[in-house]
Amino acid sequence: MRRFAEVAVDVPAGSDRTFSYSVPDSLSILPGHLVRVPFGSRTLQGIVFSVGDAPQVPETRDIIGVQGPIPHLDEARLSLARWLSRYYRCSLFEAAAQMLPPGGRIRARTFLAIADETQGDRGADLTPFQRDIVDHIRSRGTVEQQHLVRRFGDRVAGSIPSLVRRGIVSQTVAHRRPAAGPKRVQTGVLTDLGRREGPGWIESASRAPRQLALLRELLNRDDVTSLPELRKKHGASAVKGLIDRGYMEKRSQTVLRDPLGGRVFEQTPPVCLTSSQTEVADGISAALDDAAASPRAFVLQGVTGSGKTEVYLAAAERCLSLGKRVIVLVPEIALTHQTVERFASRFPGRVAVLHSGISDGERFDQWWQTRRGAYDIVIGSRSAIFAPLPDVGLVVLDEEHEWTYKQVDAGPRYHARDVAMKLAELTGAVVVMGSASPDLVSYHAALRGRVGLLVLPNRVRTDSTGAPRQGDMPGVEIVDMRRELREGNRGLFSRRLDEAMRECLSAGRQMVLFVNRRGSASHVQCRGCGYSLRCRRCEIALTYHRSAARLICHYCGERRKPADRCPRCLAHRISYSGTGTESVERAISDRFPAVEVLRLDSDTTRGAGSHERLLSRFGSGEARVLVGTQMVTKGLHFPDVTLVGVVSADVGLSIPDYRSGERVFQLLCQVAGRAGRGAHEGTVIVQTYQPDNYAIRAAAAQDYAAFYSREVAYRRQQGNPPFGRMVRLLHTHTNRARCETETSRFATELHTERDAAGWSDIDILGPTPAYPPRVRGRYRWHIILRGAAPRRLLETVAMPPGWTVDVDPVAMT
Ligand code: ADP
Ligand code: ZN
Repeated sequence: MRRFAEVAVDVPAGSDRTFSYSVPDSLSILPGHLVRVPFGSRTLQGIVFSVGDAPQVPETRDIIGVQGPIPHLDEARLSLARWLSRYYRCSLFEAAAQMLPPGGRIRARTFLAIADETQGDRGADLTPFQRDIVDHIRSRGTVEQQHLVRRFGDRVAGSIPSLVRRGIVSQTVAHRRPAAGPKRVQTGVLTDLGRREGPGWIESASRAPRQLALLRELLNRDDVTSLPELRKKHGASAVKGLIDRGYMEKRSQTVLRDPLGGRVFEQTPPVCLTSSQTEVADGISAALDDAAASPRAFVLQGVTGSGKTEVYLAAAERCLSLGKRVIVLVPEIALTHQTVERFASRFPGRVAVLHSGISDGERFDQWWQTRRGAYDIVIGSRSAIFAPLPDVGLVVLDEEHEWTYKQVDAGPRYHARDVAMKLAELTGAVVVMGSASPDLVSYHAALRGRVGLLVLPNRVRTDSTGAPRQGDMPGVEIVDMRRELREGNRGLFSRRLDEAMRECLSAGRQMVLFVNRRGSASHVQCRGCGYSLRCRRCEIALTYHRSAARLICHYCGERRKPADRCPRCLAHRISYSGTGTESVERAISDRFPAVEVLRLDSDTTRGAGSHERLLSRFGSGEARVLVGTQMVTKGLHFPDVTLVGVVSADVGLSIPDYRSGERVFQLLCQVAGRAGRGAHEGTVIVQTYQPDNYAIRAAAAQDYAAFYSREVAYRRQQGNPPFGRMVRLLHTHTNRARCETETSRFATELHTERDAAGWSDIDILGPTPAYPPRVRGRYRWHIILRGAAPRRLLETVAMPPGWTVDVDPVAMT
């Protein structure tokens, strides 16, 4: 009987949409297989979702070929892809592609060239816009369509088809070479003949000393040797000679690249858990042991240093003992290092690492080894939630409140926490979400009993014998910078922070200073006319970077020479104000010339390994001061740090986003956690112009409950999450008027649709300009849908081109 497959094809398509293909007898096709299929005149990739005997349409074409030794996706991942596609409103292929190994998805690129130079006459009736495009293509020879879109805007897509139809421009589609594949090496192996006759030949031969040496080596080794290595050592002619003689043969062999290869982890035995840690670990074990137990997801709230990681390790051990496997997510690649170290030393040889910080080749091998079940624990950043690990029994999200768990720059705009919950539902796994300051939505769910709440109330300190005892959290002081100003201190540092820095340095300890921005001056303005220097392509102020001697746009990276006069009024009165990491670094060096200061921000961590190098330099104690952005707030464990200074806590409090208070609270809690992790007490000093702000006060008191009760009241009042869900619809366009018109047109359509359906519980907010209102030359307007189930509205309205959908956005900017 003929078989048919439902295939998600790599084309823009509605959520959950598959196409029917017939399965030729020569292929054996299973759900989850990555295949090549004909689509129009092209050959595209697709993923098989089901195989059966009834196609959706009477006429079907054959699947062309199948990739990979086994299906890329298992049943649970196919279901997960379906959910992703429906929930985040992306094509099914797009959703499933998240779960492919590196190099698995091969994107098609469209190239354009002038088809016929003699078509000059026919081109006479081109629009000026089409003429620009044609001239541009002519000047370049061949151009990728993507390049034209970047240069001329979205209208390009509308103009190309008619140019192609009229034979003026030709179009070719090419496939990118896969970014990664298996690595094969040539090896030289002794043949049976060589093994039998070799020793005798060595005895009798008097010539060919190099061949003899090579043969001796082969006879004495029992591991395989790479051919290039043998050639280097013994010479190419010796290798050839032995092969000709039939004593040796070439073999091609796959080698595995391992990102942890060569690193030796000393195995460490489990620590003896404290009583509160035991209680928490038992709670998780109960759910692991009994698939029917509920709840199956837990918020683990514990201050930094309370032993959350020890609890994860204990839970992982339990999970492994039940024959199941573990996924551990960390919010940033920079933090995987520490986590890998702790897991790999507890479970040597069983840990795979999957994130974009390792090479494509290593990732490819780790992916396939994981798929085959060679590893029991996968550690990685956001995308590791899609690791092809069989039998998942436990998913850990460390620092679950971090915004990096949400994919924001490309579709599907998923949140790893929500994906984890869905994966757990499909596989029966247990989810543990750890944080000192849980996401308000997670915590709310925990208080309502939908997920379990586990608490580790105290920091653990170990005494000289290694036994744990209760530690204190550092004291946090708030300094009112308005008062400093009133009393004549216009500097970056308050008198209190200055005093604390001196004490810290003279006691021979280390300090961390947090600044919310990189650069030297975030505000470059003419004192004559008030003009402030902005990026040409983004509606945003430029930041001055002294070390680069450039004005830099933090959104698009544009760099400009600083002007010495105002571009508008031509006065020589440009002023530089506002703090950044560079200005703080400089202020410290001016004040304490003998002290080495390190700066950690995206400018100083650009090169490979530079992040780790800076941190190990700080860890070694040579540098005493670490100045940096968000990067210094997370995960760092330096026992000698006794002072943490927050140079300005008013980070983003004025950004138009309902979550800005939560963000400030979380950031300050994190940064405060960097002090006093060793034997000495820590101090945290928070400088602010808004000392009465509830988020700042609650963070200073390390009082999550106080923050929560204020914030949750605001959210309830506004109908914001968790009391309503949100969907953000963003439209961008190179032309301001078109951007506005299209946004209002679509808003009207949504209103009509909502009213017709009678869904009065869905709010349609906007359209309003997003923040910043223009980035990389594109204007940005958005509409927010809010309500109990705002996604419903999108099921009846088709998204027009030029729009992006963000379900459960984490930022409204
Ligand atoms: P968190 O993940 O909450 O920041 P960690 O698990 O990293 O906390 O614990 C902080 C430090 O305390 C680590 O060095 C850890 O090994 C140690 N520690 C935690 N619990 C214990 C314990 N029960 N016995 C000994 N050391 C412990
Ligand atoms: Zn810019």
